[in-house]
Amino acid sequence: MKEKIMAMEKYAEEENVPIIEKKSIAFIMKYIQDNNVKNILEIGSAIGYSTILMASAKNDVYVTTIERDEKRYMQCLKNVKDCEMDKKINVVYQDALELNLPEDTSFDLIFIDAAKGQYTKFFEKYKYFLKDNGTIITDNIKFHGYVGNSDAIESSNLKSLVQKIEGYIDFLKNNTEFTTTFYDIGDGLSVSKKNINE
Ligand code: SAM
Repeated sequence: MKEKIMAMEKYAEEENVPIIEKKSIAFIMKYIQDNNVKNILEIGSAIGYSTILMASAKNDVYVTTIERDEKRYMQCLKNVKDCEMDKKINVVYQDALELNLPEDTSFDLIFIDAAKGQYTKFFEKYKYFLKDNGTIITDNIKFHGYVGNSDAIESSNLKSLVQKIEGYIDFLKNNTEFTTTFYDIGDGLSVSKKNINE
């Protein structure tokens, strides 16, 4: 398994596939263990690197992961099979903003790691599939140090993307349904816990 994970890291580097930083996935794996997470939805599988590591965090974890890029989806399927994780991981080939999950589906943890300009949309769409005590974790909240410094960015595309992430951070901070903690780990993680209504 360790060799397969290392081969995936090598593939990602050679093929320019963005995958989560090691410290960030270690944090998420510990979160899964400490909080007895069983069902996970991941938005943005890429080649299945974080998917497979999350599924391996403990025995009774099941991951549904969504990927819209065909080549990455195919590679993800291959990696899941090679790691003998087919019984724990369901890979869905679709745009997450177009997918209709069955209404009775629910997750303990939703991991958002797809198009950064769409974070708020993913959050708003998928929060309905979260269990009462569930959590939404988002990666790349710092976006390579650009977040918080968008005024100094010259490229208009980059500036607009960074402003969207800044908007997402404000959205999380002002959200009354969830309480969010921001972690300076890897490229920045946010952990948003659904508030329990008493
Ligand atoms: N979670 C992966 C890992 O750490 O191994 C990395 C995911 S990569 C940062 C983001 C992926 O999200 C890309 O492969 C991209 O094709 C996919 N993606 C972006 N927007 C998406 C959407 N709306 N629906 C499904 N997949 C999307």
